Parts: sequence; structure tokens; C-alpha cells
Amino acid sequence: MILESVININCRDILDNLPYGIYFTDIKRKIIYWNNAAERITGFRAKDVIGSHCFDNILTHIDEEGRNLCKQICPLAQTISDGISRKGEVFLHHKDGHRASVKIHTVPLKDINGNTVGAAEIFSDNSEFTSIETKIKELEKIAFFDKLSKLPNREHIESELDLIFQEFKRYGQSFGVLFLDIDHFKRFNDTYGHDAGDLILKTVARTLRSSSRPFDIFGRWGGEEFVGIIKNVDRQELKKIGNRYRKLIEKSSITIENNRISITVSIGASLVKNDDSKNSIIKRADQLMYECKQKGRNCLASD
Ligand code: GH3
Ligand code: MG
Ligand code: MG
Repeated sequence: MILESVININCRDILDNLPYGIYFTDIKRKIIYWNNAAERITGFRAKDVIGSHCFDNILTHIDEEGRNLCKQICPLAQTISDGISRKGEVFLHHKDGHRASVKIHTVPLKDINGNTVGAAEIFSDNSEFTSIETKIKELEKIAFFDKLSKLPNREHIESELDLIFQEFKRYGQSFGVLFLDIDHFKRFNDTYGHDAGDLILKTVARTLRSSSRPFDIFGRWGGEEFVGIIKNVDRQELKKIGNRYRKLIEKSSITIENNRISITVSIGASLVKNDDSKNSIIKRADQLMYECKQKGRNCLASD
């Protein structure tokens, strides 16, 4: 076995777990080793490819002009024939059907006498391609994220509500919604300026973020409104949790020109009902919040 003569058994663990795809072939280009990253990058499992030849229509590397490299100018075949390493950028065939851009590096495998007994190909996601993929993931994150408060945005909260409603309908798992609105925020902005207003929004968000139970979710619903989804609670617990946030916010403050300034919130707390929808529970919580405003603010109303 050339694999054992070229690498010792301890190295195999390292090879298996390297972040680059690696495969070894014998001198006839039969694939004899295929690591975990090769599985991830190509979609082909080791058992799909070991024993077949790299020209057996598996990976079918092509160059940017679409030329089939495995049949015509296979870099691996060239390395086996002249013992010289090669580098290049190719497009391999992913098991799902698309072409994946990879950087490849071929190396000859030699025995102790210096005779070429096969070759290895090391390949990685092409950085350009990867960065587009990464950018898409980042954009997805941004699309569900509110930059100012660093909390999930309304779209994200709505999709979380869709999920939690599915669980509620399927397993009857109860939950509640807290609708929070900052009191007299316009007055605050007018008195201290928009930047101070932003700072208050961040402070409220930080309190919500850092004091919430790990499975509860808070997001910024809009302007100075926040929505919390509180899981596995009854009416009393929901009220208690809501009031805890109300007091925590009341006790937080920002400092402007050596003055400590705090704000308060009004909260509507509503527990899910059997015939509820995403819109009906939010609407109820919003109406309850509005009742607090009429009662003088800095309080919680629940149904
Ligand atoms: P109430 O107690 O009845 O809720 O009064 P309010 O002044 O909080 O309510 P209103 O809806 O009249 O005003 C909300 C204000 O929130 C108006 C708007 O200028 C401010 N606001 C909305 N988004 C932002 C933001 O991102 N930053 C800042 N600084 N202010 C914002
Ligand atoms: Mg408001
Ligand atoms: Mg307000």
C-alpha cells in the first residue's frame, strides 16, 4: 500500500482533519485516499470515490474555458509523469451538480528510492468564491439584524413568531409576548438630542439582551418599540418577567453632562390563546401597552 509507505498512521488523523481537501491516487490515478474536507468541498463521500479513477467522470475538473482537464491535460497525470508539482485554479464538479471553484496543488508521491508511485491533490475553496459565499451569509445576518440596538429586527421576530406558533399548534407549548414602548421618547430626543436618544435605545436593548433567559428572544420592532417572545410561561410568570424588565430599564441610566438620566417603558403582556395568530397576539400586546400609556406610563398591563 503506497499510502502506508508515504505517510505513517499517526499522520492520517491529521490529514483527515485538515481544512483543505486532499486526495491521493496511485500511479494509474486510482483514488486511494480522500479526506473529510474533500467530502465537504465536493459533496462526494470517501466511499463514493475511493477505488475509482479521477478520470471516471467523478470530479471532472474543467478550466475556465470549459476544457475537461481529466481527459486532456490532467495536472495530476502530468505530475505523475514528470514528478513536478503544479498549481492552478479549476472548477470541479460538485455532487449536487454545480461547479465549485477551487485552487489546486498537485504533488508527486515518491517511495524511498525516489520513484513516483502516485500523486496527491490538495485543494481549497477558491478565496474569491468563498468570499462571495461569506458575503451572502453576512448579508443574510444583516437582513435580520438591527444595527443600532444589535438586536434581531422586526423581520426576524416575525419569523420567530411563525416558528413558535408552529410549536404551539403542534405541541401546545405556551408562550407570551411583551410589547415595550419607551415613554415620552420624543420629549427625550427634543431635550437631549437625537444622539442621546440613540444611546438610550442602545441602553434599553443592552438591558433586554443581557437580562433575558437564554431561550427568550427580544427584538427591535420599530422606532422606540421592542418585542419579546417569552417561552414556556403562564400568565403570572409573564407578568412577573415583564415587570422585571420594566424595573431594570427604569434603573438603568445614561450620563449626559454629568447628569444621570433614565427613562421608563410601558409594557403590554399577552399570553397566547388557542385561536391566535402572529398578528392577533401582537395587536393585543400593543393595545395593552397603550392602556398603560393612558394610565400614566411606566407600568405593565396584561390580559
Ligand atoms: P409615548 O410615551 O406616548 O410613547 O410618547 P413617545 O414620545 O415615546 O412616542 P412618539 O411615538 O410620539 O415618539 C417616538 C419618538 O421616537 C419619535 C422619534 O423621533 C423617536 N425615534 C424613533 N426611532 C428613533 C431612533 O432610531 N433614534 C432616536 N434617537 N429616536 C427615534
Ligand atoms: Mg411608539
Ligand atoms: Mg413611546
